[in-house]
Amino acid sequence: MTSSLPTPHPSQHLSIEFFPPQTAEGADKLRVVRQKLAVLKPEFFSVTFGAGGTTQERTFEAVFEIQREGHQAAPHLSCIGSTREHIREILQRYQAAGIRRIVALRGDLPSGVGFAGELRYANELVEFIRAETGDHFQIEVAAYPEYHPQARTPRDDLLAFKRKVDAGADSAITQYFYNLDAYLHFRDECAALGITIPIVPGIMPIVSFSKLARFSDACGAEIPRWMRRKFEAYGDDTDSIKAFGLDVVSELCAKLLAAGAPGLHFYSMNQAAPTLAVCERLGILA
Ligand code: FAD
Repeated sequence: MTSSLPTPHPSQHLSIEFFPPQTAEGADKLRVVRQKLAVLKPEFFSVTFGAGGTTQERTFEAVFEIQREGHQAAPHLSCIGSTREHIREILQRYQAAGIRRIVALRGDLPSGVGFAGELRYANELVEFIRAETGDHFQIEVAAYPEYHPQARTPRDDLLAFKRKVDAGADSAITQYFYNLDAYLHFRDECAALGITIPIVPGIMPIVSFSKLARFSDACGAEIPRWMRRKFEAYGDDTDSIKAFGLDVVSELCAKLLAAGAPGLHFYSMNQAAPTLAVCERLGILA
């Protein structure tokens, strides 16, 4: 399955995502993970952001630590449940610290939070960032090759994506997917609408099927039936799950790069080994 993996061009964009650690121990672990992943020389490390306030300070801490280590840090910033004033303060904080890239999202409201916020959709956030900070930030937005679960129709979602691009997004990172054709079709649809920004596939390495299945149901990413059947048949055999997951994800990445994808964005889940294993297969690891 892996014999014909092409060697990616070294200039291909690589980025890696973390979530902010919740404890001091988690922060220590993430420091080690980052050190290991730094050998891949990613263009940036991004850090997710929780809507509703609770984990936001931890995002700042992780972002500034990454920056102090000499890497480019890209904070995620979501607008749901927030005010213009609060977002302005965050932007000023990042701008003052020399952060140059932001992943701009609507976000999802945690249950129990009633206030929807002053900016309703990510395109309004992109517009706001541009109005407040001009060209200071490179703005990344989210894209959904299998369409966002709340979109009324695929066409609506595509037009919503275009609004983010028209508002000033420089590039996009996709939700993860395991269906190459979904990405290729989405890319064609974007091209037909005149969207020319890079659309970088989001890659989720597979280490546990049960976790992946739960997560995928929630975010609307499909695990194809043939993969699901094989994972289910492995039961508790974690070695086989990891080995098959590595085959599938490496093959997907190789095909994406061969099909002209502008790079890869890894959802690391704060672990080094799964991302490193895929990159090693792809020949990205020196
Ligand atoms: P939008 O682009 O605003 O779209 C949200 C939905 O609204 C879509 O269904 C769209 O079709 C629809 N829509 C857009 N405009 C309109 C309109 N005018 N009228 C009606 N419908 C409209 N979540 C976090 O909380 N924190 C993170 O750090 C985070 N990082 C992420 C990183 C990536 C790369 C990705 C792909 C997702 C991330 N998410 C994160 C999840 C994301 O916040 C959710 O998927 C969220 O539900 C949608 O965010 P969005 O920015 O895509 O929203």
